[in-house]
Amino acid sequence: TKQYLDLPVAPADLAFGLMAEFDADPHPSKVSLIAGAYRDENGLPWILPSVNEAKACLEKNSNHEYLGIAGSPEFIKLAQSLIFGETSETIKEHIASIQTVSGTGANHMAALFLAKHLRPQRVFIPSPTWVNHQSIWTMAGVPHEEYPYYSSETRTVKLEGMLAALEQKAQPNDVVILQACAHNPTGVDLFKSQWAEVARVIKRKNLFVVFDSAYQGFATGDVDGDAWAVRYFVEQLILTAESDSTHPGLCIAQSFSKNFGLYGERVGALHLVVPRHLSPQGAQSELMSIARSEYSNPPRFGASIVQTVLGSPRLRDQWQADLNTMSARIMVMRRALRQRLEELGAPGNWSHIESQIGMFSYTGLTREHVQRLRNEFHIYLLLSGRVSICGLNEGNVDYVARAIREVVR
Ligand code: PMP
Repeated sequence: TKQYLDLPVAPADLAFGLMAEFDADPHPSKVSLIAGAYRDENGLPWILPSVNEAKACLEKNSNHEYLGIAGSPEFIKLAQSLIFGETSETIKEHIASIQTVSGTGANHMAALFLAKHLRPQRVFIPSPTWVNHQSIWTMAGVPHEEYPYYSSETRTVKLEGMLAALEQKAQPNDVVILQACAHNPTGVDLFKSQWAEVARVIKRKNLFVVFDSAYQGFATGDVDGDAWAVRYFVEQLILTAESDSTHPGLCIAQSFSKNFGLYGERVGALHLVVPRHLSPQGAQSELMSIARSEYSNPPRFGASIVQTVLGSPRLRDQWQADLNTMSARIMVMRRALRQRLEELGAPGNWSHIESQIGMFSYTGLTREHVQRLRNEFHIYLLLSGRVSICGLNEGNVDYVARAIREVVR
């Protein structure tokens, strides 16, 4: 076994490595389409007006005391009603919730908790998915297996393959990661009828779903629409389940990074929904003892911003307007890129750029295309062909479209 002195140096994180290369590039027309963070029409980070107002309120009457181990109770309540909507009242008694170190921390806490107490043989993750899913579950000691998710030929979800993999390979109590909306990196989500088919297999095979919800409201501007799949699963697996159901429950890893623009403040929550005949209290205490030994208690500042916004009807309206601003700008840029590519006669079909959802577009550009975009045009994106639409604006979309036309023709 390796000791600390002879550990190999792991390759740098690809996305973070690429961002460093971008920063070092002196070219005046360089464009970064790498990072999953919103940028305004001038290419700058944007502080949401609702967040700015909440910060002004907080300045007057906040302190730097520790939160409790499970975080701020008021924040947790508001986070629950945001994700569960009207059903939150009905199932409150069946949820163990803790504030987490953002969405990553929520996924991590879910993995630690489930590895110890559900003891799945495997975790099933979409192919492709957010890179950290694999790392988080590997750290927790649970082997992963990919299920087919995206077809690059049809640029749609590979539903048959996905269902067949779960049907044939998953064992009871295995974990399935589902992204709640705005799938990273493909921008392709399941339709409602497809969610229903997945829910049926999950229910029949007693699989445990971890919903990763990182884009609620950010994806479409519609907070409830973006939570539809989560609420549907809660209804099917918990609320309307037969009383003798042996289904193990599900959980939701909730991030506030994108929908509040609070990336560096690390605001999130994990909600574990247990079957209705069980009490969540044991799970709650176990989540708290894991949190205690990992970081004692979660950060205060970002959660108090979210709590201030969601707790005030006026600031909540402003937040809705902010969500509309972000999601609408992304949709405008999707349309602009598609239109420019078509006007320029770039070979191929570009309609997917407009129809995909959320921050990312899986463009279908190959590694060679991506390398040429970087070397010849100083345009940076992941080798998979994933672009962050947020990096586009009126000032660079034409340049990007022309560069793409050059490399694909
Ligand atoms: N899940 C998915 C699918 C994501 O895209 C992200 C952000 N890139 C996260 C979770 C977690 O982000 P954070 O830790 O900033 O909340």
